[in-house]
Amino acid sequence: MDKRRKKQFRALKKGHPVVSIGMFIIMSLAVTFLVGTIASLIISYILDSKLGSEYSDLQYMTRIYEAAGKMLDKEDAYELLGEEGRDFYITSKDGNIIYQKGEITAGSEPVSAFLSYMADEDDLENDDDYTSKVIFRTDTKVPLLTPDGEGHIGLDELSLLRDLPDLIEHTPEVGTTGTGNFITRLLDIEPGAVAMVPIWFDLPLGSEGDILCGKAYVKINMIDFAWITMLFAALFVLVVILFVVIFVNLIRGLVRRRGATKIFFTDLSTRGKNWMWFLLRGETYLKSGFAKRDTYAVINLVFVNYRNYCACHSIAAGDELLRSIDQWINTKLRGKEMCARVTGAEFAILLKFTDKRALESRLREMIDGLQNIDGEHIFHFQAGVDLVGIARNASGKPAKRRYFDMEIAYNNACTTRGTMADTEDSGVAFFTESMIEDQRWVDQVQEKQRQAIENEEFQVYYQPKYDPQTDELKGAEALIRWISPEYGFVPPGKIIPIFEKNGFITEIDHYMVTHVARDQRRWLDRGFKCVPVSVNISRAHFIESDLAEQIRDMVDAEGTPHELVELELTESAFFDDKKALIGTITRLKNYGFSVSMDDFGSGYSSLNSLKDMPLDVLKLDAEFFRGEGSGVRGEIVVSEAIRLAKSLNMLTVAEGVEVKEQVDFLASQGCDMIQGYYYAKPMPGPDYEERMKNNEENLRRAASSVEASEYAALLQGIPDYEQIEGTDVSDAADVAIIAPGDGE
Ligand code: C2E
Ligand code: CA
Ligand code: CA
Repeated sequence: MDKRRKKQFRALKKGHPVVSIGMFIIMSLAVTFLVGTIASLIISYILDSKLGSEYSDLQYMTRIYEAAGKMLDKEDAYELLGEEGRDFYITSKDGNIIYQKGEITAGSEPVSAFLSYMADEDDLENDDDYTSKVIFRTDTKVPLLTPDGEGHIGLDELSLLRDLPDLIEHTPEVGTTGTGNFITRLLDIEPGAVAMVPIWFDLPLGSEGDILCGKAYVKINMIDFAWITMLFAALFVLVVILFVVIFVNLIRGLVRRRGATKIFFTDLSTRGKNWMWFLLRGETYLKSGFAKRDTYAVINLVFVNYRNYCACHSIAAGDELLRSIDQWINTKLRGKEMCARVTGAEFAILLKFTDKRALESRLREMIDGLQNIDGEHIFHFQAGVDLVGIARNASGKPAKRRYFDMEIAYNNACTTRGTMADTEDSGVAFFTESMIEDQRWVDQVQEKQRQAIENEEFQVYYQPKYDPQTDELKGAEALIRWISPEYGFVPPGKIIPIFEKNGFITEIDHYMVTHVARDQRRWLDRGFKCVPVSVNISRAHFIESDLAEQIRDMVDAEGTPHELVELELTESAFFDDKKALIGTITRLKNYGFSVSMDDFGSGYSSLNSLKDMPLDVLKLDAEFFRGEGSGVRGEIVVSEAIRLAKSLNMLTVAEGVEVKEQVDFLASQGCDMIQGYYYAKPMPGPDYEERMKNNEENLRRAASSVEASEYAALLQGIPDYEQIEGTDVSDAADVAIIAPGDGE
């Protein structure tokens, strides 16, 4: 799946119920946390505001100690402090309790989250050296609590009140009793007070590092309680409202998502499912554990006649038909099988199967059912199939198809369907790996074709045609070869079908006509006795109404006599628009070109075409001469075809002749020319030049053995060899003679 699709999928997933419920839980927790924090902050504030005087009292005690310490010994000074009526204890620098008055409850009960100050621990940075008793706020770096030289707390009352919560929470723990912890415990009920909450403070005492841990009380009265109750009620209402809002939004989001998803996955023409749905659901399902034990087929089903149908009826009628097709297919699906329209008249189908042959017959049955879906017409459908096998883990057990990609599978199915694109008939084809290679080659050729023609990478090869009676060169056929810097020598079979499909063939035809005309002109200029060279003209090209004029102009541009260029038209082209074809052939002939019917006998009978088309040459297809001795029947057909051509005043060329017996037979039947490996394979221009030279030499030799008058007649029209590349007649014997049959 590509990135864009994945993104879309993720966007859709955001609205998924599981995700929404997850969001709901997270948001609820966040709200609870927030509300809890606010509540504890407020409560801390209330408590702190009440602690100011208690703290001053404790500070006062440290001052008393300082004042008394100068006169009394330590024990007496401690006792003096006891007169303040407060529970306290004193720890030494190393944390040992050295004096105690009253019960020590500090650290004996867990800190209540409800009352504790919620400041973030990280906001404070304690100097690790606790003995220095310096606490910093990380945000200000201002020391909060510093013992002055005499061991006093160097903080004024105001900032103390402001920072008290920090102090309470983070006063360094000294000793094992955990003093300084924030402890809540309901004590005795005092008149007018609802509750007394004890809090222990640590204060430096004296200069020896002793600590005074004094018990303070926070008095919570009715008003405080009322405030707290109201606060909690308000917070509770807030939480409820927030929960309701979140919940309602969640439900609305889910409903909206359902609607949006439906639109997102609905095909506008069929109102069924669309490609996006197929891609996401199909891929997810095939990758899941549910599908891992079964084999599946991803199918590209094309309604071949859709365009025609729309042209004859309307696009709306076409859509209506697509809808019935979609619905019909859906009625044939089982279990988790899927169908969706992709685009145009293409459907993507996912079928489960166990046996390939059964799958094929199921598909053929489907196509049969669809062929007459409207009860009036016969439609054609083609199905390309890519099979999805079972993935197995190391121990051979079925595993999830983790790397399955629906787009690739569907693409394979499309490539497979593409192999049937030449016909309009219904059919089913299965994907093979070589199809990918073929497709890759097609892409490469298409990418390189223009550059190849511009760089003149296409070369004209010439295959001579000989008279089997005299072994004389009578003509040649121009055949294209691609000499690619990247792929080397590429035969026409690997490129012509591609060019025919993509339309580039007309440029190839132009290229060939121009190059053949140019070569002929060059050879004429060099004094060769040129023979007609035929050029293949594609069927697609013949449809162009001014083809004859195009060819005439191209040949004229090179200054080549028209009779030296022949045009070959393949037999299958004769099924196209006959009138236009006859017009083009007639005009070509009027301009002096000869026209031949190529591959006669290779496909459908074209006898009828022979009746109407004013053709000059009939080329008997190589198929006649293939296989183990074409037999007596074959010989009868060939000789009758030759006779027929003669009766119609046409010359005959036998193609693909490879053995002497065939040559002898064709000679005995009066076949005019033979083009086949027996004489020569297609060859580059310079080699063909040699053939022309040798032909003339052979003629001279032949002539030298006949009477002078015949000699003169034979040489008529042959330029003097002296004129050709300065060759002297006396040197003629040195020119290699290529005997029939040694062609390569
Ligand atoms: P084609 O027009 O029927 O050309 C004759 C093919 O038969 C040539 O194949 C030739 O090499 C081959 N051939 C000739 N004699 C023998 C023989 O004795 N034995 C065997 N086995 N083969 C023989 P080639 O050159 O591979 O061309 C294949 C086809 O490609 C041509 O069939 C023609 O349809 C097309 N083609 C070639 N060049 C062009 C071109 O320039 N333009 C167009 N439109 N088509 C071309
Ligand atoms: Ca040909
Ligand atoms: Ca041919």
